[in-house]
Amino acid sequence: MKKREMNRRDFIKWGSSLAALGIAGAVLPGCGGSKDPCSDLTGLTEEDKLTRVTFAYRDKTLIPAKKCDNCHFYIAPVGDAPCAGCTVVKGPVTPEGYCNAWVEPQPEGAPEPEIPGAPAEG
Ligand code: SF4
Repeated sequence: MKKREMNRRDFIKWGSSLAALGIAGAVLPGCGGSKDPCSDLTGLTEEDKLTRVTFAYRDKTLIPAKKCDNCHFYIAPVGDAPCAGCTVVKGPVTPEGYCNAWVEPQPEGAPEPEIPGAPAEG
């Protein structure tokens, strides 16, 4: 199976397509103005913010068996920090969050999984 990776060029091309459709503005109202630290997107680039739209990130999963804290791409919070991180979706995520890139944790030494929902190479 061919490993599919999303490089910067693919992401920008994809993000531009979404922006052209007006999706980004419709899904990211009020970015940066929230007092919830896990919703604070301050400092993220537009490209970073688009990862949240592209993969339809939400801070509460609708699928109890699939949430950020049991996802392969999850980065656990450090110390008492309320927010976690992710190697796919940029910015803070919550342990109870979810997005369309969710992948079950892979065994140690396994190849890096494909990112579900990532744009195809073209
Ligand atoms: S890929 Fe999606 S489900 Fe997995 S940790 Fe990142 S935001 Fe959460």
